[in-house]
Amino acid sequence: MTAGPSTIDAAASARARVDVQRCAALAAAMVQCDTRNPPGDESSIIGLLSDVLRGLGARVETFEPSPGRTSLLASVEHGADRPNLLVNGHLDVVPVVDKDWSVPPFGGVIRDDVLYGRGSCDMKGGIASAIEGLRACADAGVRPSCDITFHLVADEETGGRWGTEALLRAGRISADAAIVPEPSELGVCVAERGALLAEIVVSGRAAHGSDPARGRSAIGDAARLVRAVQEADLGDPAHALLGTPTCNVGVISGGTAPNIVASSCTLRVDRRVLPGQSREYAVETLRAALDGAGTDIDYRLDVLAFVEGSELDSAHPFVGFMRAATNPGRPVRGLYLGTDARFLRNQLGIPTVVYGPGSMTVAHTADEYVPLAELGDAARSFATAYATYPVTGVHLTP
Ligand SMILES: [Zn+2]
Repeated sequence: MTAGPSTIDAAASARARVDVQRCAALAAAMVQCDTRNPPGDESSIIGLLSDVLRGLGARVETFEPSPGRTSLLASVEHGADRPNLLVNGHLDVVPVVDKDWSVPPFGGVIRDDVLYGRGSCDMKGGIASAIEGLRACADAGVRPSCDITFHLVADEETGGRWGTEALLRAGRISADAAIVPEPSELGVCVAERGALLAEIVVSGRAAHGSDPARGRSAIGDAARLVRAVQEADLGDPAHALLGTPTCNVGVISGGTAPNIVASSCTLRVDRRVLPGQSREYAVETLRAALDGAGTDIDYRLDVLAFVEGSELDSAHPFVGFMRAATNPGRPVRGLYLGTDARFLRNQLGIPTVVYGPGSMTVAHTADEYVPLAELGDAARSFATAYATYPVTGVHLTP
């Protein structure tokens, strides 16, 4: 389907009604709700978002598989037999180290057209833009061409067990297509790397530090393993959008005192994977890299977590739809990290893109921020998507 004049008009009038200040105010109010995970409690933000979405005519309910781990499900229906567009965004944010911040992390400070605060970029700003797109449609009197469902979920930052994954297990997710408004610098992201997080415990033999040859240093062996995995060719092919996966040793701890040969040393490793690569493959190839350091090293490998990669074919019509609704001049992109999009793509086969304001390079950092101009651009793209889905080819510059 391509766009007719009435569809283009509808999108144009909805876009014109996007109110950047209103969008920023909602994002700031969301930042002021402390939803740090860990410890993990999203309940403080539910009232604010329920009120806003009810005001837009949405049917709203909560989903709380564990006390305080609340997700908000809201749907706006516009008639029978319409396609359903899902917006999935997470409400939790990562912790803060207060002393590193120059603004209060939960203050919702707006200065020089930038919103600062934990979650401003990842990803309360994106959720606010998605809601502002719907407000703009309502203000313009534009009836969206699709049903719109919001899953504003708990627990993305520690893996999704109480959020999207719980909704998935409960059979609560269905949609014709989905947008995850994580920060993507306003690019349409269609693929993401997964990750194997593993702990490697190296065993040695203690001895007096004055005569190390009598023992076996677990730290010395661990150092060989570190070099081996960081320099290893893990045998992965290069992916057009995701490059070749990397392996990083992020934690090392071991030994007891300078005058004792260390009997134990622990490494924590992040080995990224491409879409389609399994947990078993990730473990096997990591082991092969470790064994490359020498078969005499006594180590144990424990998997801490595995998150699979995911991908939507760039040629899928929904990718074309989203590029047209956002900025067709921008190439599709990949993300080196994982989002809840993987559940939708891999387990449910829902065509899903990540698209939102802000940059992943400032997500999880001190003084995290999102430019208000990007909130506005994203809200206009959401308004276009709601007014036109699944009719492709509607792009209107602001
Ligand atoms: Zn995020």
